[in-house]
Amino acid sequence: MMFVLLYNYVMKRGLLIIMSGPSGVGKGTVRLELMKDESLDLFYSVSMTTRSPRPGERNGVEYYFTTKEDFDRQIKEGNLLEYAEFVGNKYGTPKDKVNSKRDEGKNVLLEIDVKGTSQVLEKLKGDEGVISIFLVPPSLEELEARIRGRSTETEEVIQKRLKTFQEEVVYKDQYQYIVVNDDLNKCVEEIRQIIKSKM
Ligand code: ADP
Ligand code: 5GP
Repeated sequence: MMFVLLYNYVMKRGLLIIMSGPSGVGKGTVRLELMKDESLDLFYSVSMTTRSPRPGERNGVEYYFTTKEDFDRQIKEGNLLEYAEFVGNKYGTPKDKVNSKRDEGKNVLLEIDVKGTSQVLEKLKGDEGVISIFLVPPSLEELEARIRGRSTETEEVIQKRLKTFQEEVVYKDQYQYIVVNDDLNKCVEEIRQIIKSKM
């Protein structure tokens, strides 16, 4: 007990940073920029998903790619901090690393959807180390141009993802910060300042 108290006093527990936003807004791009800044001491929580890898995506780096059966087993065994279905696929956060890395003092970054965020905020109510950020595009036209520019989805999936934005935006008030990703550098700087102010 004494050791735990002393440990917590000396080692500040890491933050849990939730970043959400519509598909194509630039979450992945912003995350890669943030991860370059070692002073932020970030650990990216790699999610599990049933969707197929895009060209260039590696198992264990962008996602842990898995089957529907395995995903359901992970849910049953209580291994996920949260999970949600997004445009026909399941996505979830393995919980073991989130806790252990925060205990080590690392600032853990989650890139999850609005429904997953509701679950985390409910589970971690009162945890002052939680930061929630919702990224928005400068306009709907620009969002569409970015999804298309990425060239990773079929027309049908692009349409579904754009439509999902109308449902997602209803959840924006659950976030502490809403940041516009217009100019990439400005957006990254804004988020960097938010994180630094809580460290
Ligand atoms: P998300 O992870 O939110 O789905 P991505 O990071 O894959 O989005 O970005 C979608 C596309 O938009 C990519 O082609 C990316 O290069 C581009 N992009 C990201 N941020 C900006 C920005 N600020 N200005 C212009 N294009 C951007
Ligand atoms: P994509 O297929 O574009 O990588 O992700 C689709 C959506 O799923 C995005 O909104 C992304 O933030 C969300 N997502 C990714 N990982 C997780 C996760 O672990 N949990 C939840 N709830 N959503 C996730």
